[in-house]
Amino acid sequence: MDALIEKLKNDCNLNDEELRKLIDSDAYDDDLRRAADAVRREHYGDKVFLRGLIEFSNCCNKNCLYCGLRASNRTADRYRLSKEEILGCCEEGYTLGYRTFVLQSGEDPCYTDDMICDITAAIKARFPDCAVTLSIGEKSRESYQRYFDAGADRYLLRHESADHAHYAKLHPANMTAQNRQRCLWDLKEIGYQVGAGFMVGSPYQTTENLIADLRFLQKLQPDMIGIGPYLTHHATPFADQPNGSAKLTLRLLSIVRLMFPYVLLPATTALGTIIPDGRERGLQAGANVVMPNLSPVSARKKYEIYENKICTGEESAQCRNCLEMRVKAAGYRVVTDRGDVKRS
Ligand code: SAH
Ligand code: SF4
Repeated sequence: MDALIEKLKNDCNLNDEELRKLIDSDAYDDDLRRAADAVRREHYGDKVFLRGLIEFSNCCNKNCLYCGLRASNRTADRYRLSKEEILGCCEEGYTLGYRTFVLQSGEDPCYTDDMICDITAAIKARFPDCAVTLSIGEKSRESYQRYFDAGADRYLLRHESADHAHYAKLHPANMTAQNRQRCLWDLKEIGYQVGAGFMVGSPYQTTENLIADLRFLQKLQPDMIGIGPYLTHHATPFADQPNGSAKLTLRLLSIVRLMFPYVLLPATTALGTIIPDGRERGLQAGANVVMPNLSPVSARKKYEIYENKICTGEESAQCRNCLEMRVKAAGYRVVTDRGDVKRS
């Protein structure tokens, strides 16, 4: 094994110069992947955790420049699921073996804090052995506290870019890296298991930006790190920007596994969209989570954060079976426990 990768594996860290070398070259990819897989097997064996994703609203009052759900996209066909429809998705998911439900949406003020608490509490009451994860954007500390008190266990909020200037190029002036990061620290202090992360190859992203992302994650020490390639959506100001690369995404997954041996690391749908075996290769590069879709088929195509998203025509049961097969073919095994992080 290359000395640099040996060092990263042993120390879970490298200096900036060394990281730059790894990120900018494809010479280390095979060694990186092998080392990352060895570390994931040491900590998690061949287990792959499932999270059932329920995209309950595609309405958003934010205007992130990269996202197809942005408020200014007048061509998006908007929908909202009712509490009963969300519980129906959980019911189906529970039968299929899911023990974590991820409730994700745009930033949609129609779902008041009372409603989010009510939905969360109803899921926890009906499925007490399940974890509820929220991914509904930037809120006040008080709101986060209320959801937590209602029973939410986890929260996913990618930091998107730790570098303030780069963050500002991806977002309108009313969104700041500072507030994004404030949210993550609040969530952590309240007691959530927290997921952060970023897109690979987002417009204007440099190697220095990626290093800043890794350094921020080292400070935050999140339980989950979500990394996927940036994918273009035609109805955004970034319509002419190229997609991120699968290769660089896989490289970063391996680097992250080696820097954060304990972490829950999804093989994302975006990675499965940019190359057909993306999720399988993500698992082989160190990922240990997949997030199949539990949303009703009628909603799936409409939750178009980026274009050509996979699995939008399938029923939940089909998604579950397909994923199980893919995980097995990649050399791993789907497990159905809640999959809480193991930090030891
Ligand atoms: N509104 C919430 C949750 C939904 S968006 C939020 O923003 O946190 C979930 C994630 O999708 C975002 O964090 C972003 O990293 C990712 N995303 C958005 N647009 C994307 C694109 N064009 N390509 C790839 N990922 C994208
Ligand atoms: Fe809204 Fe999230 Fe898309 Fe930003 S990334 S526009 S907050 S759905």
